[in-house]
Parts: sequence; structure tokens; C-alpha cells
Amino acid sequence: MKRPKIVILGAGFGGLMTVTKLQKELDVNEAEIVLINKDSHYYQKTWFHQVAGSNMTLSRVRFDIKDVIDSNKVQFIHDTVIEIKPEEKKVMLEKIEVHYDYLVVAVGGEVGTFGIKGIKEYSLSISSASAARHINNHIEGEFSNYQGGEKEDKITIVVGGAGLTGIEFLGELTDRLPKLCRQYKVDRSKVEIICVQSSFALPIFEHDLGQYAVNTLEKKGVQFRFETRIRECLPDGVIIGKNGEEAVEKIHAGTIIWAAGVRGNSIIEQAGIQVTEGRVKVNPDLRAPGFENLFIIGDCSIFVDEKTGQPYPPTAQIALQQGTTCAENILSLLSKKTKLKKFEPNIRGIVCALGKENAVGVVYGNKVFGSKALFMKKMIDNRALYMIGRSSLILKKGRLNLF
Ligand code: FAD
Repeated sequence: MKRPKIVILGAGFGGLMTVTKLQKELDVNEAEIVLINKDSHYYQKTWFHQVAGSNMTLSRVRFDIKDVIDSNKVQFIHDTVIEIKPEEKKVMLEKIEVHYDYLVVAVGGEVGTFGIKGIKEYSLSISSASAARHINNHIEGEFSNYQGGEKEDKITIVVGGAGLTGIEFLGELTDRLPKLCRQYKVDRSKVEIICVQSSFALPIFEHDLGQYAVNTLEKKGVQFRFETRIRECLPDGVIIGKNGEEAVEKIHAGTIIWAAGVRGNSIIEQAGIQVTEGRVKVNPDLRAPGFENLFIIGDCSIFVDEKTGQPYPPTAQIALQQGTTCAENILSLLSKKTKLKKFEPNIRGIVCALGKENAVGVVYGNKVFGSKALFMKKMIDNRALYMIGRSSLILKKGRLNLF
């Protein structure tokens, strides 16, 4: 008898979690499981800011997908998805096409520019492993090429966005700065780091946690411009303006990091599925509205909190938990059950690192600061590894220096 075919697109947090659960629950004769990813490696995206800030190597954040999947049960295809055709139940890859009975779309997000002119062309974003490494090299290049001399001549780095990604990157960058200044004999006073944010820092937290992050980073030399937006990005800087005001100011900068927006992967909107900013508002059971056999999880989905009416922020934690529920729902469909499980996020905690020695966040409803928060951050990272690859992945890649 023909086995039902489950195809998972994307081997990130959501996709790998779905596969891990399915391979555990299903026998080879029960279903065919196919995982497709554009890289042969999985990259621990939540550590990209450390690569960009040069405090972690690329090999440290990378692991082989084949180390995580059971190759007796799961076929891995290393290829890029270029089109999803839900009406024909097939997916077009660069090299081949793949048919499916059940599809899980977990291809993550892309950089969202909010339509700001020049962001795509002139800014750098911490969106992929190679982009993170490029940022690291670019900043090093700025220091090595710095001639000094002129009074006004400075190394200026602008970071657009003071959410989790922007703040974590600033923590890494300011940790690295003393070494860079020493190495290239640059006077620290010649380096300016300016963060521009349309509201206040870390809007996913209460104000005091954002303020803690601001105080920590200001002490390390970061200047913040709150209630201010980047209006345009240019080859040599940015135009910024205060919210609601006409007046604008130009900041000359050799490095512009855009850390302010995530949108869904563009292959989804091309599939004829209704999207908002490239992301799909999924049903409570994680299926795309109108599709019986198509699940969308992780950063390319929008899942609304029933209590607040607001979407949950896209995080690794949500993607992992959605992966589990999605797999459970596919198992239900395979056993002909029609009532599927509602996804119920269990937000255990979110912690934002502020460099090597400090962090801030909320864990099980309690605010945490400083070294305690940093410890919790490492535990959260290790837990994510454990969920995907059990103890062996922690031993290979885990953050074992907990204190
Ligand atoms: P991803 O993990 O992005 O995985 C998507 C996968 O799909 C990738 O493997 C990609 O290669 C593949 N793919 C994409 N397009 C295609 C294609 N066309 N064909 C084939 N394969 C494709 N979240 C937290 O919870 N805590 C944090 O502390 C945190 N810190 C972060 C720090 C940084 C710097 C960044 C960038 C993000 C951070 N996040 C954090 C967010 C978190 O990383 C994401 O929410 C999470 O990775 C989303 O998981 P996902 O499975 O949806 O997508």
C-alpha cells in the first residue's frame, strides 16, 4: 500500500522539531517523511548576533542536519524550494519537484524593510549565517582602514532597531570594541555606536527591563535615539527623524545594521495563500486557512494570543512548540481523526543577552537581571538543543560554561 507522504520545508527550529517528533512516533511503513532545506547544515539562528559581533565562530553555530534526523525514517533533500503549488499538492525545488499528502511550511522569515528606501541596498542584517559573518568582516574592515587624523573623522555604526536582535548585537559589539580599538590602534573616542528605535528598547518586555538594557549599553558607549525612525538609508549613512516631526537629521555612517523587521518568506505569498507582511495567520490547529493538509509554523506564521488579540512575537520558543503540535496533528490526521489539537503556547521565558556578562528577561513570569539572567539564557539555549537533538547535541554544541 502507498504510504502517506509528509513533506517538511525548512530545517530550522520549527521544521526540525516537527521531524524529531514524527520520526519518534512513526514506523517506516506508516509514512514517508521528507525534509527539505536549502543548506545541508542547520544554523543556530539565535546565536547569529554573536557571529556578527565576532564572539562566536561560524562552525560553532552550525551542525549537520544528518546528525539530528534518523536517516532510516527521514529522507533529507538538500535543495531550495522555489514554489509551493497547494492546488497540485506539490513543491518545486531548484532541481526536482516533490509531491506531498501533508505539507509543513517552516521556512522562517526574511528581512522586513517596512518600505524604507535604501534598507535593502545599503544596510546589513543579521538574517543568515553568511550575513552575520559579513557584518563581522565589514566592521573589522572599517577599523583596519581607519586613517584617523581629521577631527571629525569617526567610525560610526548605526543599528536600526532595539528589539531582541538589535540589543543582543549591541551587547556583543560593545564587548568586542576594546579589542578592536587596541588591535587597530583606534582611539575609542573616535568610535560612535548609535541605535535608532521607533519606540523604546525591548518593547516585548515591561519598561524597566528595557531601561536596564539601555543603562547597561549606555555605560558601554551606545547612544540611543528613541521615538525616532530611520527615514532613508544611503550609501554613506542614514536619514533619521523624530516620530511625528518633519525635521530630519543625517548621520554619516560606514556601517548600518538593520535589526528591525521580520517578514515571512516570500515563497509563501507566491503560493496563493493569504499573507500579512509575508506571514500567514494560521488556524488554531496551525493549518493555513482553507487548506486541510497544509501547516505553517514558526516565523512564517502569525499566531494570535486569544487573550490580548495580539500576535505572539516570532521566537524560537514558539517555533519549537508549534513543531510539536504540528507533528501531533499530522499523526491525528494519519489516524483519521478529524478533531485536531489547538496550539497553546507555553511561554516559559525570554531572555535578552547584553554581552558576555549580563542579560535581562522574564522567566516563568519573574524578571531576571545580570548574571542570573545570563545563566537562564544559557539554559534556554541548551534546552532548545536538547529538544531537537537530545543530550548528544548539547554535548557537541551546548553552552556548557554556565557560570
Ligand atoms: P528558522 O529557524 O529561520 O529556519 C528556517 C529554515 O528554512 C532554515 O534552515 C532555512 O535555511 C530554511 N529555508 C529558508 N528558505 C528556504 C527555501 N526557499 N528552501 C529551502 N529551505 C529554506 N528567538 C528566541 O526565542 N530567543 C532568542 O534569544 C532569539 N534570538 C535571536 C537572535 C537573532 C540574531 C535572530 C536573527 C533571531 C533570534 N530569535 C530568537 C528568533 C528565532 O531565531 C526565530 O524565531 C526562529 O529561528 C524561527 O524558527 P523557524 O523554524 O520559523 O525558522
